[in-house]
Parts: sequence; structure tokens; C-alpha cells
Amino acid sequence: MSTLRFQALHDATHREPSKFEESGKKSLLFGQNVFNQASMKQFLTSDAYKGVQDAMQYGKKIDRNLADYIAMGMKEWALSKGVTHYTHWFQPLTGTTAEKHDAFFETSYDGLESFEKFGGAQLVQQEPDASSFPNGGIRNTFEARGYTAWDPTSPAFIFGTTLCIPTVFISYTGEALDYKTPLLRALSALDDAATDVCKYFDKNVKKVTATLGWEQEYFLIDKALANSRPDILVTGRTLLGHTSAKGQQLDDHYFGSIPTRALNYMRELEQECMLLGIPVKTRHNEVAPNQFELAPIFEETNLAVDHNSLLMDVMQKIAERHHFKVLFHEKPFKGVNGSGKHNNWSLATDTGVNLLSPGKTPMSNLQFLSFFINTIKAVNDNEALLRATIATASNDHRLGANEAPPAIISVFIGEQLTKVLNNLETVSDGKLSPEEKTDLKLNVVGKIPDVLLDNTDRNRTSPFAFTGNKWEFRAVGSTANCANAMTTLNAIVAKQLKDFKIAVDALIDGKKLKKDEAIFNVLREYIKSTKSILFEGDGYSDEWEVEAIKRGLSNSKTTPTALKAKIDPRVIALYGEMNIMNHVEVHARYEIEIEEYTKKIQIEARVLGDIARNHIIPTAIKYQNTLIENVRGLKEIFGDDFEKTAAEQIILIKQISKHIEGINRNVAEMIAIRKEANLLTDAQKMAEMYCDKVIPFFDEIRRHCDKLELLVDDEIWPLTKYRELLFTR
Ligand code: ADP
Ligand code: MG
Repeated sequence: MSTLRFQALHDATHREPSKFEESGKKSLLFGQNVFNQASMKQFLTSDAYKGVQDAMQYGKKIDRNLADYIAMGMKEWALSKGVTHYTHWFQPLTGTTAEKHDAFFETSYDGLESFEKFGGAQLVQQEPDASSFPNGGIRNTFEARGYTAWDPTSPAFIFGTTLCIPTVFISYTGEALDYKTPLLRALSALDDAATDVCKYFDKNVKKVTATLGWEQEYFLIDKALANSRPDILVTGRTLLGHTSAKGQQLDDHYFGSIPTRALNYMRELEQECMLLGIPVKTRHNEVAPNQFELAPIFEETNLAVDHNSLLMDVMQKIAERHHFKVLFHEKPFKGVNGSGKHNNWSLATDTGVNLLSPGKTPMSNLQFLSFFINTIKAVNDNEALLRATIATASNDHRLGANEAPPAIISVFIGEQLTKVLNNLETVSDGKLSPEEKTDLKLNVVGKIPDVLLDNTDRNRTSPFAFTGNKWEFRAVGSTANCANAMTTLNAIVAKQLKDFKIAVDALIDGKKLKKDEAIFNVLREYIKSTKSILFEGDGYSDEWEVEAIKRGLSNSKTTPTALKAKIDPRVIALYGEMNIMNHVEVHARYEIEIEEYTKKIQIEARVLGDIARNHIIPTAIKYQNTLIENVRGLKEIFGDDFEKTAAEQIILIKQISKHIEGINRNVAEMIAIRKEANLLTDAQKMAEMYCDKVIPFFDEIRRHCDKLELLVDDEIWPLTKYRELLFTR
């Protein structure tokens, strides 16, 4: 009997749901463990308070003197909550968060006295020994060291007994080594460009903030069951396993009642989120069995990104208390829906206007149209880059598969807005006649708010869709750090808005057009030149792939192909022009990502080879021996006549041999190809070889193993089966 599997099943089915009692109203709990406005007011001097506010809102620098005062207040606040340690909390390019805890506790130089110490120096800058974080060669080429620096725009928080201070992570020569630094630069570029454009419509706008509301999908699997599978343990997904007779065909999981154990987990998770100031709002079952989703109220993008990274960490920690393991992988199970992380994105002014929501006057609607059409243009001109932004080994399973956004980036805007764009396309060149102006105001721009009210035709197959008052970037993977997608999106829109302003100003100054005439003229040209990115049909259909090729859209189905777009000279120029990343930083990121891809596939190949050879084959042989024993017995009883009674067993024995041979041969060939690939010195070529030559063996090996799963006695099968993983509650 396979002990690990059955022990795990026993544990999983005998669990009592972990109890959890909420400790109060959510609105009272919210932000209690965050150094937010309220606690700052209480613990900071008025100068220190004002310093942080100015830094948060206008990016003003905080001098060292002030930092000392802020640190003092922060320490007092933290100590009042039983905190003992502090850490600079950052997001290196590993995709997870990093922290190194230091105690507040210090002793005097003679060791006779002890006290709690935390000053401006500790708050503002730290030098973690970061030599083993990925850096894409930056710190090898230049300086060996990196440092973390306080990001006052994202408030400090307490998790457990540690004060966590959100920081950026940069090399001593100034290159970004994390996700946050380029994001902050992109958000600042967007603010500048968007504020300039807003001034056409409202002179009072001083700041534009990009907002992000992510939706996190995940699977919850009993910890013992997850741990019983070496593939889940090491790679986060099942590399083999025959699909369960019941999967999601009945659609009975989506929005169904949440199982008690999962619900208790969510309740505790949500309470922790409340304390941490993560405004989670929605929870529901997703399409697949044991799949769920959690979504917050949207926030300023930098904060939302931090909150998502923090959430993923917190989710796993709380899961331990409920004997669950959270699977964030984009495709943990074959034949069952994968997970994504929709990024809902919009732009808000400091005057309280959502720029992607039409207003009450024709002028504010023209403002809406400007931001709406400029986003389309930005996506149109940078579709390959956007695709590259979401490319990872794990997301490759979702993109292009028949159940998630395809690998082609297109934009969905709905029937009504398509009509609006068609109308705008006929705006005449240069000066507009009075009739045309009236018509535009009344019938085109003026009607937009009504049009959007009944804009209900949401297309679930589009990777980038307009959903009434925001854009929804749906192709982002569930394991992704949102910063990657958000840096790119904000960067390309910033660049586009900058170009828009230049074009409009040129018409105003050169052709002496009125402001709105100039805007209409430029928008008209954008509408004409972005037709190929707009697609309203079924994005999962084969016809769309054919059509997209005709339109010249890229369709990179794999990460190695997609990532090339990241180092396209045009992209490097764009990031440089907008001061978001220099060419060294862009190249470093590309290198890290291409290497990460290879490593991920390497690990999967090894784990698969190991399971297939060392778990599956021995089990198959064991069962085959039982059959052989049986045939031998039949021969003893029936003599020469045994073949009639043993016919089925003999077929089984032969089939098992065939599959064992299939596994062995494919694993051997896969290892040989890997060895060949590992000799390559070019990272791009190595990744391509893993993608094109190694991955195809996964399916072959899996097919033989999964067939054996159907043949071999369930009692001795070593791997926890799909139905057990997916339906144990
Ligand atoms: P679904 O896509 O599952 O149907 P919704 O359309 O209700 O769900 O999307 C809700 C998500 O959109 C939430 O995460 C919410 O915070 C986010 N959202 C709503 N308005 C904005 C906005 N102005 N900016 C960014 N995100 C927003
Ligand atoms: Mg959504």
C-alpha cells in the first residue's frame, strides 16, 4: 500500500475545520496594523507628519533630521503594538517578497544597558546582503552591493511582530534591482504626461494617479495532499495525473456555496487583510473545483501592487493554520481551468475625476475620449511588449490554451463605443463647420454617458477589455507580480499621452486650430491607425488566429519568443525617453526572465523524470509481478488450458511493459536533449531549445504514466489522484 498517499488522504478527510471568530467590525479593524494617517497624526510631530504627507503626495524629499523624527514616531507606534523587530520589505526580481528582520533591541557599547533603537538611518536605508538575488549581471558588471531605500508612498505595516517598511532595492550605481523602482518611475511619467493632457480640459488638475484593482485567483488544496505530490511541492503544479471523471463539466462550482474549511480560511485571511489595510471586498468560488477568487477595492497602483505581493505571502501563511496549501500556479491541473490575475486599471485626477469614465459635459466627454483612444493607441503600438510583459513559463499554459486569453493581444471596447469611434472617424480635416461641431457635441460626444450605461456586452475572451469605466488587462498570470504589467502599461500610455500633447499643440500653433478641433483631428488619425488591434469576436476561435496574422498582430505562444520584444530597440528607446529604465536595466530584466524560464523547465523536467522512473515504473512493475504471479497460479490449476482464463491478465502484462518502455525511452531522450541544451552559451537559444525540444517530452512521458494510472491497482498507486486533490473538502 502506498503509505504517503493514504496517510495524506486519511489526514485530509479527518480534519475538523479550524475555528475562527472575527474580532470586530471590518471598518474598525481596517488599517489597524498600518502606519496610516490616523496613527501618524497620533505618533508624529506636526513637522514630521507634514513631511511624510508631502513625500506621499508630491514626491518631496525627506531630510535626515526629519527622518529621525519619523522613525521615532514609527518606533513608538510599533512598540505600542508589541512589535519587536523591523525589516525593509522589498520585491526583488525573484517574484516573491524579501525581508531580513532586525531587532529593535540594542545594548550600549559596554553591554551594561539595553534599549530599543530605531532611527532615521535604519528607516531610510539598509544594505541587505543581497548577492544572491537575481540582478541580470548588473552587480557583476558594476558594483557588488545593493541597498534598499524607504518608499514613503507605501505606508509601513505590522505583520506578526515585525514592522515592515516598504522599500525599493537598487544597486549602488543606481540601477533598479526590483519591481518597485521602475513602477514608481512609470507612475511618475504617467502623472506628468496625463496631467499635461488634463490641462486641456481642466486647469485645476495637478496630479493624475493610476489606479489598480487586481483579482487574485487561486486553488486551495489540503496541505497533506499537496505535500504528498513531489510535483506540486517542487513546481507548484501537477506534472502528471489522469484527469478525474468529474471535473468542472457540470459548472457546479462557480459561485457555489463555499465549503466550510475554505470559508473559515477566507474569513481569517480577510481579517488579516483588514488589519493590514488591504481593502478586500469580494470572495467567491471560481470555475474549477477548489478554485477561488479574492478581489479588493481598487487603490493607487503602487500601493495596490504592494498589497497584492503582501497578500500572496499572507495567504500562504494563514493557509498553514488551516492545513491548506495555496496554489498560485497558472495551471496546476490539466483539463481544469487555470488561474489568472485580472488587472483593472484606470486613471484618476486629484480633483476626483475618473478619466476613463465619461462626465456630464461634452468637454469632459472629450477628455474621456482622449484617454480612452490614447490607451487603445498605446496598446496598438506596443502589443508585442505587452505580451512579453506577461510571459512566464507558467503563464504559457494559459495563453493560447482554449480556456484563457489567447497569446494575441487585442482590445475589446463593445458595440456602442465602436459606433462612437466610427462616427469620430468622419470628423473633417482642419477647422470644423458650426453644424459639425453641434452634431459632435450633441450626438457623438454628448451621447457617450448613456451609451456606457447599457454597455453590458462584456467579452470574456479578450485579453484587454474596456469595462465601462476602466480597462481590464486579463492576460496577467496568477503568480505574477502586478508591477511588471503595470510598469509596462503605464509607461506606454505615458509615452502615448506625451506624443498626443505634442501632436495637438502642433495643430493649435501651426494650423491655428481651436483646441477641441485639434484634439478631434488627432484622435481621428489615431482611430484610423489602430483598427487592427480592435477585436470584438471570439478571441479563442481558430478564425481569430488566422485573422490576427493577416492584421500583422504578433502571436507569440511561448515565453522565449515573446520575451524578445522586451529588448527591441524601440522599447529600449521608449523606456529611456520616459526615464523608466536605461538599456542596462532593460537588458538585465530580459536576461533574468529568459534564464528563469529555462530554470523552471529544467526543474520540471527533472521532477517529471524522477517521478516517472522512481515512483511510477517500480509501482507498475510491482503490479505486473502480481499479474504474473496470478497467471502462474492459473497455469498450475488449469494446465495448458490456462491461456483462456489468463487472457486479460496477459494483455495487461504486455500493456504495462509497453508503457514502462515508453517512459524509459522518453526520459532517456529528454535527458540527452537537456544535456545538449545545457552546453549552449546563449541564454535565448538555450531557452528556445528547452521550449521546443524538451517540453514535448513532458506530454509523451505523462501519457504513458497516466495510462498506467488507469491500469495499476489503486491500492498501490503512489501519487494522490486528481479526484482526491480536487474534491477533498
Ligand atoms: P469581474 O471582472 O470579476 O466581473 P468587476 O468588473 O466588478 O469584476 O471588477 C471589479 C474589479 O475592478 C475590482 O477589483 C475593482 O477594485 C476594480 N475597479 C473598479 N473600478 C476601478 C478603477 N477605477 N480603477 C481600477 N480598478 C477598478
Ligand atoms: Mg475581472
